[in-house]
Amino acid sequence: MKAKVDEGLCCGAGPCQEICPEVFKRIDGVSVVQVETVPSEVEKKCQEAMEECPTNAISLK
Ligand code: SF4
Repeated sequence: MKAKVDEGLCCGAGPCQEICPEVFKRIDGVSVVQVETVPSEVEKKCQEAMEECPTNAISLK
């Protein structure tokens, strides 16, 4: 699984970093994906982060 954040939609202060810090980190006011591929053990948390994102900035595939 790969994760992507649309920087144009990201408000920077959402829950993704709290829910899945293994993948999402705040850099220069936006959330940035830290990994090439989401580790299988955090896929569920990553999915939850996508669902909780208030601006639908996160996509997974
Ligand atoms: S939850 Fe969504 S809008 Fe908020 S920081 Fe994360 S990616 Fe950006």
